[in-house]
Amino acid sequence: MREKKQSEFSLIDEFFAGKSHYHTGTLLGVGDDAAILTVPADRELLVSVDTMVEGVHFFNNGTQYSVDPYSLGHKLLAVNLSDLAAMGGEPLWATLALTIPEYNREWLQQFSAGLFSMAEKFKVDLVGGDTTRGPLTLTLQIYGSAPIGKAVRRSGAKVGDAICVTNSLGTAAYMVQLINESQHNSTLQLADNILIKENLANLERPSPLVAEGVILRDFSSAMVDVSDGLVADLRHICESSRVGAVLDRAAIPVHSALSNIGSVEERLSLALSGGDDYELCFTIAAGKLKLVTEKLAELGCAVSVIGDIVEEDVADGDSVKWRDGSCIDERGFSHF
Ligand code: ADP
Ligand code: MG
Repeated sequence: MREKKQSEFSLIDEFFAGKSHYHTGTLLGVGDDAAILTVPADRELLVSVDTMVEGVHFFNNGTQYSVDPYSLGHKLLAVNLSDLAAMGGEPLWATLALTIPEYNREWLQQFSAGLFSMAEKFKVDLVGGDTTRGPLTLTLQIYGSAPIGKAVRRSGAKVGDAICVTNSLGTAAYMVQLINESQHNSTLQLADNILIKENLANLERPSPLVAEGVILRDFSSAMVDVSDGLVADLRHICESSRVGAVLDRAAIPVHSALSNIGSVEERLSLALSGGDDYELCFTIAAGKLKLVTEKLAELGCAVSVIGDIVEEDVADGDSVKWRDGSCIDERGFSHF
């Protein structure tokens, strides 16, 4: 037991302790029974957690395609930062619960490098965690802050607001589809596939829209990040806000990588229901659209207006529809 504890501590020391310290509010980080943290009196604390499980959120090791640990570290922090971005929060801290099947130095080094590359970019102090042996499971809790009363909730959408989404959708889901196809078809060589080469980073190393979220905090009435699929995530806004949404088919920003797919319906389906894009979907009063579009463009972020918030149709039960009233036959990712 004593020996096991020793190696657990050296693992923490080597790969996770003392690697990031950006905030004066970090009074005590990794090393004690708990971290000691403080936020200024004029700000609120935002907290969110996400888990990634091998075989569920990323492909199992040993299959033809396996994710490199650097990307896993990157993505674990990225998906959490994306949740924070969707509230308009600014990142502060993270804690990491790491369950690994074995002590693999090479793996830990890479994972830690990926994680801290993102921590450096987005100024996140890793202030604690837990390390256990078991099936590969990566959990990270993120802490951020926003000025009091300013965090953007899902519940603020108003009838007449425009519905917007950043950049484009569908690549991550398309990459998963191509990888799955290649697992069942040995003639499809993943490494040679130019589409995969050029777009895999969208799946493996997403860029959370943190600065964009901070701008949108002052303009949007409701916001969500697109992690389970656009329609599924927009439904969350509709349900929380007690409103409906109508979308325009031609306005959905389908990623250009999907142009190889023959059918328009299939392309649209990936963009509407594919998860893992980590774009931001927000609602906004039409009068603020121009300014916000300009401000986001300065960050290199495109905005598409994809529809409008309408009165809730209580009898119907389906909150998100095409503008002509027809159903959008898509469901986002659900674990159960
Ligand atoms: P305890 O037994 O008191 O819960 P641990 O032995 O689990 O403490 O952890 C020792 C210290 O290392 C704590 O400060 C904890 O937050 C930190 N820690 C443990 N695992 C990790 C990890 N994977 N990443 C970052 N910090 C960690
Ligand atoms: Mg303790």
